[in-house]
Amino acid sequence: MTTVGILGGGQLARMMALAGAPLGLRFLVMDTSAEACAGQFVPMVVGDWRDERALAEFASRVDVATFDFENVPAESAEWLAARIPVFPAPRSLAVAQDRLAEKTLFNELGIGTPAFAAVDKRADLDAAVARIGLPCILKTRRLGYDGKGQFRLKAAADLDAAWAALGAQAGKVGLILEAFVPFEREVSVLAVRGRDGVFRAWPLTENWHHDGILSASMAPATDAAGLEPAAVAQARKLAEALDYVGVFALELFVHEGRLLANEMAPRVHNSGHWTIEGAETSQFENHLRAVLGLPLGSTAAVGLSAMLNWVGTMPAAGPVLESPAGHWHDYGKSPRAGRKLGHATLRSADPATLARELAAVVEALGRWQEFAPLLARLRAERIG
Ligand code: AMP
Repeated sequence: MTTVGILGGGQLARMMALAGAPLGLRFLVMDTSAEACAGQFVPMVVGDWRDERALAEFASRVDVATFDFENVPAESAEWLAARIPVFPAPRSLAVAQDRLAEKTLFNELGIGTPAFAAVDKRADLDAAVARIGLPCILKTRRLGYDGKGQFRLKAAADLDAAWAALGAQAGKVGLILEAFVPFEREVSVLAVRGRDGVFRAWPLTENWHHDGILSASMAPATDAAGLEPAAVAQARKLAEALDYVGVFALELFVHEGRLLANEMAPRVHNSGHWTIEGAETSQFENHLRAVLGLPLGSTAAVGLSAMLNWVGTMPAAGPVLESPAGHWHDYGKSPRAGRKLGHATLRSADPATLARELAAVVEALGRWQEFAPLLARLRAERIG
């Protein structure tokens, strides 16, 4: 009996454990909070990431460890990796934890990014804005996610406010200034690499964000510009450079027919939740297969999927449960503004049915406006 340890006990760990049950796996999660939602049905060690006693207990009870949370301190991941197999390796985590290291690596590998500059002090911000131009975005280098730790600058008058908002972080986690990309669309490559180096990517996913938080995804994305092979090649180059093992997401902006990499998530990713029902093998199962050295499953899509995120409040389940296309996921978390509480995936064999079911669900939930861009894309590009 193999026990997989997961650092972080959120919804990603929860969905991983669900995917691992048919493989006969057992799980143990570690989290800093006893309320972590995977702990509702997975045994859990509660402890601080830097608590060696808790880490030692976790290590003694698992055969292999992986992550649902990329901000586990790199030293803690290394401490564990010295004792048990850990995938992905701590270096992948360290690179992805730091927006500056990550974008620098992207550029070294020939993966284009928005223009960026490190900002460590106020004078750096002035110089960076002068070089990169407006509009731009100031972000924390570390510990930012879901749009947290970001400040958009539209005019020179915004510099003081940006520094007031994030300047205190400059000495702690560092800052990075990025050109604001007026992208036409956002896509992600969800890919998996096995211990033996076998690489597979799911079909390209298109994503929509609200306030920096993923709102909806659709896959397979339409790719009129034919960018998918280049996007997948970039993901592969990155995985090989990091000797990456497991699932990861590469988030890209599409702007004027070009791909610009925003960030890499060194774990299963929200933009891949559609794979649970919409692909032959889900991201969660393939992640487990990869970290255990098992053969990877097919990443082919099954039909067309739209994923709707429930952020802040859970809507009524009824309309999704009643839809023949609907699949409901409630993470069992208590509501809080900006918190991801669940999602729904609607999957159909054909775009017209998907559009109809999607329209019925969002109408019944009164969330028409939120998902209008997804519906508009579906109708404009798939239904002739
Ligand atoms: P991040 O936390 O970097 O993934 O940013 C969250 C979201 O903010 C992205 O998915 C984009 O929608 C938006 N965003 C971040 N960086 C940029 C950028 N340089 N240009 C335009 N939009 C951005």
